[in-house]
Amino acid sequence: MIRKILLMATATLLCMTGIAQSRFDTFFEKKSLRIDFALSGNAEGQRAAIEQLREEPTWGGPLSNLVDEFHYGGYYVRIYDKASGELIYSKGFNTLFEEWLTTDQAKTETQSWTNSISIPFPKRDITFELLARSRDDMQFHPLLRMDIAPESIFIDRGALKSNHITKLLYNGEPNRKVDLVFLAEGYRAEEQEKFVSDARRFMEALFRTPPFSAHQEDFNVWAVGIESEDSGTDLSGKGIFKQTALNSGFYTFGIDRYLTTRDMKSIRDAVWNVPTDALFILINTDMYGGGGMYNFYACGTADNERTPVVFTHEFGHSFAGLADEYFSSEVAYNDFYNLKQEPWEPNITTLVDFESKWKDLIEEGTPIPTPVDETHQDRCGVFEGGGYIPKGIYRPMDHCMMRDYAPFCPACSRAIERMIRYYCDEEY
Ligand SMILES: [Zn+2]
Repeated sequence: MIRKILLMATATLLCMTGIAQSRFDTFFEKKSLRIDFALSGNAEGQRAAIEQLREEPTWGGPLSNLVDEFHYGGYYVRIYDKASGELIYSKGFNTLFEEWLTTDQAKTETQSWTNSISIPFPKRDITFELLARSRDDMQFHPLLRMDIAPESIFIDRGALKSNHITKLLYNGEPNRKVDLVFLAEGYRAEEQEKFVSDARRFMEALFRTPPFSAHQEDFNVWAVGIESEDSGTDLSGKGIFKQTALNSGFYTFGIDRYLTTRDMKSIRDAVWNVPTDALFILINTDMYGGGGMYNFYACGTADNERTPVVFTHEFGHSFAGLADEYFSSEVAYNDFYNLKQEPWEPNITTLVDFESKWKDLIEEGTPIPTPVDETHQDRCGVFEGGGYIPKGIYRPMDHCMMRDYAPFCPACSRAIERMIRYYCDEEY
């Protein structure tokens, strides 16, 4: 009997997967439509504009999980079938530009930054909609809307430079795995072997860390070697500039350890023929630093002694949308979170809507907020301080990878595992 029920359950599951897959086949091909767009503006407001459309040869994302139910991120893309108006694909993401909007510089300057999003390549005419989250009501509001015809002559279908691609780990069909791509930055031609071994070392560190350690078989890992003229990265605050493939540098927003690049076009050009669910830019220096934004990229340095944990922390941002749980380090942001609203990140709360967060993970009788005392310090609770702010915002455990490189707390672990299921095209 049990066996029969199991068989029936399997049949139902296969059938459901079949329906979802045929939905993919109705609307999409297993290729990508890359949409590059500019975000411009200042502290007062922002606008968006298309820069280029490209057809690219792979689609590594899920085939059934087409409409994103996380609702994470500062931006959201929605794709509608133009004829029926039906929502057929959506995804949330963050950008470095939205962080810049909260800096002092954005009060006196107007800037334009390139961003990029890839969607499965449409078979029929679509309507593309880009939305931005307002900090006032935390809702997504339309920024740009346009129709795209898949046969348009304005879609660039050309090949780009093929970089050296190494498969570090391959567990199966990219549509059912998390495809993690390491990208080389600041490695000269003769340092490409070092890059592959650095990437392997980082991959091994990730798979030693729970909850990733239990999910190695859910990942494919790729290393994409790009050659730079110089070794290292820019230190603009010290007058040091290197000629590198992805134009990375420290001193993002004036913060010495904040290492990023705003050259999204070069990044996406480098991975044009690799299935990419998550991107980590490995930067060839021994200094301390890094950065990570949800569904954008994460980056870190190859040779600092703290690097493997920095990588895991930044990957927590870029892969699972986790917030920083620290609240005492210098950052360039002003009022990054609106304390009158519930933030969207799964591992911080303002208690405005704690029900939607990790309330089910705390033991009954745990005081809210939870004091950091002997009884509670190593348990899941609601501890004040997080998201760069010491008051009015709360984190799930006193210590976590997202605060100080301790093991991931239960709320973060759950969010990571949920994201893995999404990319493996399972129910999440
Ligand atoms: Zn955490």
